[in-house]
Amino acid sequence: MARVQLRNLEKVYGGTVKAVHGIDLDIADGEFMVFVGPSGCAKSTTLRMVAGLEEITGGEVLIGGQRVNDLAPGKRSIAMVFQNYALYPHMKVRGNLAFGLKIAGRKKPEIEAAIAEVARILEIEPLLDRLPKQLSGGQAQRVALGRALIKKPGVFLFDEPLSNLDAKLRASMRVRITELHRRLKAEGLSSTVIYVTHDQTEAMTMGDRICVMQAGRIMQVATPKELYEHPANLFVAGFIGSPEMNLLDGRIEGGDFVIGGQRTPLGPKVTDRLSDLPAEAVLGIRPQHLGLAQSGLAARLTNAEFMGHEVYLHADLEGRPIVAVVGAAQYEALGRAERIHLRPEPEHIHVFDKSGGGNVSLRPSRLAA
Ligand code: ADP
Ligand code: MG
Repeated sequence: MARVQLRNLEKVYGGTVKAVHGIDLDIADGEFMVFVGPSGCAKSTTLRMVAGLEEITGGEVLIGGQRVNDLAPGKRSIAMVFQNYALYPHMKVRGNLAFGLKIAGRKKPEIEAAIAEVARILEIEPLLDRLPKQLSGGQAQRVALGRALIKKPGVFLFDEPLSNLDAKLRASMRVRITELHRRLKAEGLSSTVIYVTHDQTEAMTMGDRICVMQAGRIMQVATPKELYEHPANLFVAGFIGSPEMNLLDGRIEGGDFVIGGQRTPLGPKVTDRLSDLPAEAVLGIRPQHLGLAQSGLAARLTNAEFMGHEVYLHADLEGRPIVAVVGAAQYEALGRAERIHLRPEPEHIHVFDKSGGGNVSLRPSRLAA
């Protein structure tokens, strides 16, 4: 069992800098949990407290139900993979893989069997007799993964392991790591993962659940689908999804949302609860949920990014930048028009409280969850 529990976890650096503000989180055995958020939000600090590389200022970390605050990293049943996967440069891949087991005093046949198994899983058999400098970035990262895997830890801790790789390699490593996680689980090996990244695409594609963080606090913990469809607040709404959700300042009037001199109808999801909503608010609509229409919000087209199957339209709406994703054919049909009309799909409109930032268009049952 390698369930991980964080209880009111706090970190203060140097007696003054509060980096982590009392985090509570339960990660199930075998779960792939992603910590995502902008640089400096304390993802690494939190992960390093789980690993035992950073002293815990307050609260508790439990692994497999056991409090590990005072346990050395080597006793926590964890293995960590970093962005800078420093392999020992003078050792061949084989030696790099064997190192941890040798230190632990394992016998030679056992070590060799473990190397063979890990090399098979990661498809690095042909690389075993190479030195790290003879490996590509992706190969080196797979060896680093192998060094973690060979320890058969209860929990894998990843800190931005793909950030040094180019975009194409990152995409293929993403798939490799999630496949590996699935395979280990299927083989009955405990394989809880905590994976830190600043990249929302990595978070969305890899996580069973995602913990969105900002400034040392949890903003929302949910599945990728739930985060995308029901962001709890402005921060999550703006952070998750690509291109970013449009967030437009305005006010609620009757069943409409008023932006500058224009209005757009709010769906029943929102208008059912009008009396609970603040007058001053922020409308959130994803670029994918804004359609070109004959009438609707009038905007001035400022730029079009051709993406192949789709085109990202950038426009000015009452002095506010707005982005819509439309089909390439729809864009063609616009001709050279500068004036366009955009219609937010009412069922996909979110309304956020301007002061607190909370998503006031979520059903109360979702907020409670
Ligand atoms: P992230 O991994 O999300 O980018 P970090 O956990 O590295 O964020 O940092 C969180 C906050 O703690 C930042 O404000 C950072 O400046 C601060 N911090 C990190 N390490 C130290 C340290 N050793 N001493 C003082 N402050 C630190
Ligand atoms: Mg970090």
